[in-house]
Amino acid sequence: MSRKVIGNPHDAPAIIGCVKKPFLYFLMLVLAWMPIGSRALADGLPDLGEVSQGDLSPQMEKRIGQQVMNDIRLHDPDYLDDPEIEAYLGRIGSRLAAQIEGSHPDFSFFVIKDSTLNAFAMPGGFIGVHTGLILAAQSESELASVLAHEISHVTQHHIARGINKQQQGQIAALVAMAVAILASRGDSQVTQGAVVGSQAAAIQNQLNYSRDFEREADRLGFTLLDKAGFDVRGMATFFGRLEKFGRLYENNAPSYLRTHPMTTERMTDIDNRVVLKPYRQVPDSIDFLLVKAKLRAQEGTPADAVADLTRQVGERKFNAEIAARYGLASARLRADDAAGAETEMQRLRKEKADSPMLDTLAAAIERKAGNTEGALKILRQSLGRYPQARAVAYGIMECLLDLHRGEDAVRFGNDDLQSYTTDYRMYALLARAYAAQGKQLQQHRAQAEYYYLTGQLMPAIEQLTIAQRAPDGDFYGHSQVDARLRELKSMQAEEAKDKKTQ
Ligand SMILES: [Zn+2]
Repeated sequence: MSRKVIGNPHDAPAIIGCVKKPFLYFLMLVLAWMPIGSRALADGLPDLGEVSQGDLSPQMEKRIGQQVMNDIRLHDPDYLDDPEIEAYLGRIGSRLAAQIEGSHPDFSFFVIKDSTLNAFAMPGGFIGVHTGLILAAQSESELASVLAHEISHVTQHHIARGINKQQQGQIAALVAMAVAILASRGDSQVTQGAVVGSQAAAIQNQLNYSRDFEREADRLGFTLLDKAGFDVRGMATFFGRLEKFGRLYENNAPSYLRTHPMTTERMTDIDNRVVLKPYRQVPDSIDFLLVKAKLRAQEGTPADAVADLTRQVGERKFNAEIAARYGLASARLRADDAAGAETEMQRLRKEKADSPMLDTLAAAIERKAGNTEGALKILRQSLGRYPQARAVAYGIMECLLDLHRGEDAVRFGNDDLQSYTTDYRMYALLARAYAAQGKQLQQHRAQAEYYYLTGQLMPAIEQLTIAQRAPDGDFYGHSQVDARLRELKSMQAEEAKDKKTQ
């Protein structure tokens, strides 16, 4: 897990003036949830208690994780809204999670634009990965080894188990706070300023997993990695490299090491497990290489990215030519050079490769060049081949909207949502499609679902209230709005009740 954010409690006092609003916002949000009693915790640093899973129900874990996840998505400027990279991490995660024995939450992965090497897991299965960590992974198995380790922190309920037993009454609030702190990257002073000092220090202490938890996550992660068919050496090489960095940087060790302390013992354990396994060559998927190339194309200024990737292609410094050229085409597109991107795209099309990411880039280049019809054609063909590629479906909606084909967009969006009933991105696009057609009731209804699915209950209720008053829509439409509004209001009442009784 985790992003260490609070420095030593004896560090210089917090400078509230430089607090980044989004983080403060979400800490406040979490604090608002806490019962009065837990705001005055004892100063002592908690021991690691053996709190069983039963102390925090899976529903509660999910709720805490979801709330912080929603907050990151809405308020963290470094959240990377990239459905392709999220989906890629999700595929690796599902492959690993399929090997878990027993019940476990569904995992969802998201990406934070941050060059530090880190990843962190929140209760309920929400796992954040820094772009720096993805870029540092030299093979897919290396990346998978970190995800497997994080997944194991979740399945073993390490955050909840790390909370002192004496504080059990407040466990939900404490876990929520711990998660908020770990998710608020960056300035240590920020969090320290926002949260009452001693309490924050106590929580921070729990964010650095104990050696036992680390070894447990390694052991279980290793098994998942192995059973899922990855190269288990990936764990040894990646963690070994992190450890080497750690020694070089001393106090500025990669953040991953600060929250997942690496010990010689841990490394030895991993090495001992690796030697027992026969050698297994596991080639990287094309998507692994494309995801890294895509991230590289986003680094620095557009001109820097173009220069870097041009050099790589020129010097033939790459694992796969197709990924290097894809990166260069992405960087050229980012630099508003549609013609240059197109040339690169034509070159890479000659290579054999199979990924919807190539199609979405080709379509984006066409759109930039003003050929939206051409982009739509590419995406429609792509969706035929990759019906589950969400970025392709969103691209189709965007093209239809650009082309003022509101009716087609409405039809496409509604069909799509039959299969992907909780896709908030598609609801936002559908709301735009209805708006383009001037259909107010349906627009606000779709917008309400978008808000609901991103954890914004109040705005969702507002949208439905607006929909109720919409001059269009038939009796059936209005009854659906009324029914949904009743549902959301009762959820709101439940939430208010929960807060009181905590
Ligand atoms: Zn760990």
